[in-house]
Amino acid sequence: MSSLKFSTLLSNNGFMFTLKRSIASLSSLSETHQLLYKTCRDFAEGELKPNAAKFDREHLFPEKQIRQMGELGLMAISTPESLGGTGLDYLAYAIAMEEISRGCASAGVIMSVNNSLYLGPINKFGNAQQKEEFIRPFTNGENVGCFGLSEPGNGSDAGAASTMATKNESSWTLNGTKSWITNAHEAKASVVFATTDKSKKHKGISAFLVKTDNPGFSLGKKEDKLGIRGSSTSNLIFEDCSIPEKNLLGEPGLGFKIAMMTLDAGRIGIASQALGIAQASLDVAVEYATKRVAFGAPISKLQSIQNKIANMSLRLESARLLTWRAAVLKDEHKPFTKEAAMAKLAASESATFNSHQCIQILGGMGYVSDMPAERHYRDARITEIYEGTSEIQRLVIAGNVFKEYNLQ
Ligand SMILES: Cc1cc2nc3c(=O)[nH]c(=O)nc-3n(C[C@H](O)[C@H](O)[C@H](O)COP(=O)(O)OP(=O)(O)OC[C@H]3O[C@@H](n4cnc5c(N)ncnc54)[C@H](O)[C@@H]3O)c2cc1C
Repeated sequence: MSSLKFSTLLSNNGFMFTLKRSIASLSSLSETHQLLYKTCRDFAEGELKPNAAKFDREHLFPEKQIRQMGELGLMAISTPESLGGTGLDYLAYAIAMEEISRGCASAGVIMSVNNSLYLGPINKFGNAQQKEEFIRPFTNGENVGCFGLSEPGNGSDAGAASTMATKNESSWTLNGTKSWITNAHEAKASVVFATTDKSKKHKGISAFLVKTDNPGFSLGKKEDKLGIRGSSTSNLIFEDCSIPEKNLLGEPGLGFKIAMMTLDAGRIGIASQALGIAQASLDVAVEYATKRVAFGAPISKLQSIQNKIANMSLRLESARLLTWRAAVLKDEHKPFTKEAAMAKLAASESATFNSHQCIQILGGMGYVSDMPAERHYRDARITEIYEGTSEIQRLVIAGNVFKEYNLQ
């Protein structure tokens, strides 16, 4: 239904419009990508931007907007149409994620987790029956999924999982706790990683599909976060949680590989979320600088303000190029682990930088919630932490560079 929406628009229009922002400077964007960009931009302007402060202030899950995003095909962008998805490529996903996050970073992370962390691994490793059960109902915004890898005792060191899965005759029993899980309170199902053979360390981790109404499953408290407060974050608790044998995703022992491959792709989504926050910060800064008068002229005439705008724009556009390169490499089925890590690192640091500079340009108005600058600053911070901290991205990048020199 959702992809129909795009294709109908495409065939009806003689479609031509001018994109004013720099995102359009890559003239090689296809008509589909440009239409998607405009659709997401209009949706973000009309539905997300006006409500983002409320979602943040009231810690409100944007339920109506997530359903609308489902109708637009944004909750399953790269899932095949045969499974109810939109069937577009990862560049499309990156473009859409940026525009949605520019309107509301919370909506961005909810979308990102459903698309890349939940649907991504099931699309890649699920069998036909698992895809029917765990993909199709999660494509249209009615249901969202989540991804349970981190634990109270290990985040960066994900291979040290202490959640256990024990095999019984025709079922698995899960015991343990997953922490910091995005979408936890709304999710109807989760991809969960648990150790099935402790002696094999990370090679003894397996991936499972768990419905959240399963007996033995419960949620921890909602975390009270600095930013992205429209998305829920909680512990997933498994106490003798028995799930059917058929809910093993892939082979036993494949879990760590599934998690790492999922995070490679997920980082393109988080990079795009960060681009959206960085762009939103630049938007606010430019508009304010042209209106605010000091010493008889708009502050945009001051060289020190212009320097800040130039640096913000430079960081944003370089990070966008890295992000789109990683997405295109993935679409071309080429290795993209290093490029996704670079994209996530550059984009998240550009979000932090831009939102910081934006507050500086706004002066006192940057520090109060009448303007969105302080929210962008709070939302930006998480992009340097989840799906691998900046330190971990640097490890991944350096490891790959040494490999390229055959030194590792
Ligand atoms: C809001 C939010 C949402 C999240 N959503 C999810 C989710 O949906 N699913 C999920 O599974 N997880 C999720 N996470 C967890 C997130 O991925 C982890 O917090 C993150 O990977 C870091 O792990 P940690 O918090 O345990 O920090 P630690 O691993 O304890 O790291 C602490 C510090 O040590 C540094 N460090 C650790 N190891 C190294 C190393 N080898 N070299 C250099 N520095 C190192 C880190 O960079 C960091 O600065 C979420 C977290 C938050 C806060």
